[in-house]
Amino acid sequence: MIRIGISGIISYILINKYGVIILKILEIIKGLFSGSKSDKDKMLSFKVKCKKCSNTNEIKVLKTYDIATVYEDDQPGNYRLKKYVVCPDCYNKIHLEIFFDKRYKILSSECNNGELLD
Ligand SMILES: [Zn+2]
Repeated sequence: MIRIGISGIISYILINKYGVIILKILEIIKGLFSGSKSDKDKMLSFKVKCKKCSNTNEIKVLKTYDIATVYEDDQPGNYRLKKYVVCPDCYNKIHLEIFFDKRYKILSSECNNGELLD
């Protein structure tokens, strides 16, 4: 009776341990599947107003292509976007530089010859 009781407890602990491991595996699999995100999650879009002709242009960038990881400690963010935008109406060159945090929230931005709209 006592032996069965002990092995019962041990197998209960084992099941619990494996239960946790299985949950971890499920989490990893879930992570893999959420890795195949839709294009919307891979893209960021901004509205930039041209200073010369006041035309508002929408800019779409790919997170993986246009946005670089910041390695320097003196820079204000985790990611940086540097982009030259040519206004399609007046060919004004707008220089855009934006710093983001890990969640792609804008921390600071600079826009020459234009204005970044919210
Ligand atoms: Zn313009």
